[in-house]
Amino acid sequence: MPKYKQVPELLKIMRNPEQIRNIGIIAHIDHGKTTMTDSLLASSGLLKADLAGEARALDYMEEEQKRGITIKAANISLLHEVDGVPYVINLIDTPGHVDFSGKVTRALRAIDFAIVVVDAVEEIMAQTETVTKQALQERVRPVLYINKVDRLITELKLTPQEVQEKFMRIIRDFNELIELYAEPEFVDKWKVKVQDGTVIFGSAKHRWGFTFQILQEKGLTFGDITKAYEQNNIKALEETIPLYKAVLDCVVRKAPNPIEAQKYRIPRLWHGDLDSEVGKALLNCDANGPPVMVVTKVIVDPHAGIVATGRIFSGVFRTGQRIKIIRSNVKTNIQQVGIYMGPHRVPVDELYAGNIVALLGVSEARAGDTITLPDIDIPPFEQIKYISEPVVTVAVEPKRTQDLQKLINQMKIMEIEDPNLKVTINTETGEYLLSGMGVLHLEIAILEYLTKKGIEVVTSPPQVIYRETITGKAGPFMGKSPNKHNKLWFTIEPLEETALALLEQGKISMLQTLKHQQQILIDAGYPRDDAKRLWEINEHFNFLINNTHGVQYIQEVKELVKAGFNWAMKEGPLTGNPIRGVKVRFVDAKLHEDPIHRGPAQIMPAVKQAVFACFLSAKPTLLEPILRISVQVPAELVGAVTSVLTRKRGRVLEMKSRGNLMIVEGELPVAESFDLSQVMRAATGGRAFWATEFKCWRPVPQSMLPELIRKLREQKGLKPEPPKAEDFIVEE
Ligand code: GDP
Repeated sequence: MPKYKQVPELLKIMRNPEQIRNIGIIAHIDHGKTTMTDSLLASSGLLKADLAGEARALDYMEEEQKRGITIKAANISLLHEVDGVPYVINLIDTPGHVDFSGKVTRALRAIDFAIVVVDAVEEIMAQTETVTKQALQERVRPVLYINKVDRLITELKLTPQEVQEKFMRIIRDFNELIELYAEPEFVDKWKVKVQDGTVIFGSAKHRWGFTFQILQEKGLTFGDITKAYEQNNIKALEETIPLYKAVLDCVVRKAPNPIEAQKYRIPRLWHGDLDSEVGKALLNCDANGPPVMVVTKVIVDPHAGIVATGRIFSGVFRTGQRIKIIRSNVKTNIQQVGIYMGPHRVPVDELYAGNIVALLGVSEARAGDTITLPDIDIPPFEQIKYISEPVVTVAVEPKRTQDLQKLINQMKIMEIEDPNLKVTINTETGEYLLSGMGVLHLEIAILEYLTKKGIEVVTSPPQVIYRETITGKAGPFMGKSPNKHNKLWFTIEPLEETALALLEQGKISMLQTLKHQQQILIDAGYPRDDAKRLWEINEHFNFLINNTHGVQYIQEVKELVKAGFNWAMKEGPLTGNPIRGVKVRFVDAKLHEDPIHRGPAQIMPAVKQAVFACFLSAKPTLLEPILRISVQVPAELVGAVTSVLTRKRGRVLEMKSRGNLMIVEGELPVAESFDLSQVMRAATGGRAFWATEFKCWRPVPQSMLPELIRKLREQKGLKPEPPKAEDFIVEE
């Protein structure tokens, strides 16, 4: 088969979803995902031979090469022929580090099949479990690739019997994950079996690999592979049993095509009406249906500008077409539709359902967005859950003042490309603050976007992001406008657990209409009267409820009251961190009859003042972010791990054994996690491996509270003592 096809030939293949497969490779760090991707790139179709010789194409950033972490989720389209039929295989790269689990999940949206790379020596590790679990939760079928088999032969020098036992153990453990995390209807269908060709064995480094069928076809045994190593004849293996063939044959034969996959994946990913025209088109991956795509990745290309890559779930996207981004309701024209050839983008006129597309000119699109036509009214694809809430911040400053403008530009690009990063300016200190999901996440972002671009920066030590909340009720308190012509009364109480859970699980999101939000609350058994009187759900999970009766001009000030409420929630009075989990009731008001005297500058400060008086009277406290941690460690070191966690205000929740290893499941505060690598390494001699992810917000222990509040205020340049309720209470 020619390795390179012309665009018209490719488009012909892409027109037929049965000849498309959308897949990803996921793995524990260092298990060989990058090496394997490179070997696929080097050997399979759609690539000119000279490209294969280049530096690792997917892993093109210096920092990635140093750390071996693939950060950019770029797409690579490959061409592969099975039984004389050509297939386009879209390979969406997924980041390997769990600090970025938000990103992994986004990439999982676009794929139907995942190859889980497992190092034969280390076997299944903490992150293997995390990424496999995430795939299963998105109804992505995982299959197993056991990598680094060469090391079993050359380093560990295992006997064939021992190799066999090791393989069996890895397969058993992998199937255990499927049993644990797959929905019941998929468990039996998706368990991997050697005889089925759903387990691949190989060496990405030496570029050979096989499935049971391939060995049979070639009349080979595992002994022949051992022999090749003994005779130093490794190159021959790459020729007789190339890895790319084992992997891509498995993909073509075992991965569902988009028509098959969308039937069971759409009900999971999209909560619109499945019987509607759009619903049916999505279920059937129908190119004749309305165009709908989901953006999985946005990059800022120095030449082309903003490039949004994603999967077309139905319809056709065309160059010049007018489209709408559902979340932001932005309408714009597609400047250019592109396909991927290998890792490169090539312009085309149009592209059809089932494919991975690159759009130019849709500069407002962000990862996770759903795009359709301006006149189509459908809910967006399910939002990524709150695991992506940033919990750590550093202040960034250029070493050379002349770099300031460059720094600001790069920080804008960062925010576009990685939606888990947030950039803010501290107006008191003029510092640029970068927030993300963990310390490593921020370190890599700084290296990738700043250092690598020649911008030397000084960063502050990392700081945890807190939330402010209340533990009691208070009010009513009055707020008075600066001109004294308007009075508004409010009360406050903690938001119910039911409402918080709906927000945390993403069942209620800021993107839904208020009506939709109210209906979800009512369906979940939330007090009907409060749901009906809801005015606003704030982005930090706070409710504003209108309990006023018969107040004149109330409709005229509604938007201003909402704006004042959101303003108060953004920076709480204790430390200037956002307020979370409160229910504010607007109970009464006396408003001036002349609109001139009840503008934003009058109403908004009055609302904020009253809400702060309530907040500070309702036993306020701080919430800190807590991580879930899963540590894998030899049994004799369990005590050391437990003691590290306990010393760091953490807890052990569960212990499981896997082979001769123990898995310690626990939790610890983000505030105690910054030096975890050093402390854990010291305690276990580097023999513990772990994965963490955001778990929940929890009140800071009472004993630490006054000191912490003082510290946070000082960091923000505020006076050390927080204000008291009296400071916001005014006479009528
Ligand atoms: P990633 O973090 O999963 O992307 O892992 P990499 O592909 O960067 O591989 C991590 C390390 O393992 C590198 O030093 C690779 O050279 C090495 N490696 C990857 N595959 C193999 C293999 O099949 N055999 C051996 N011996 N080493 C491998």
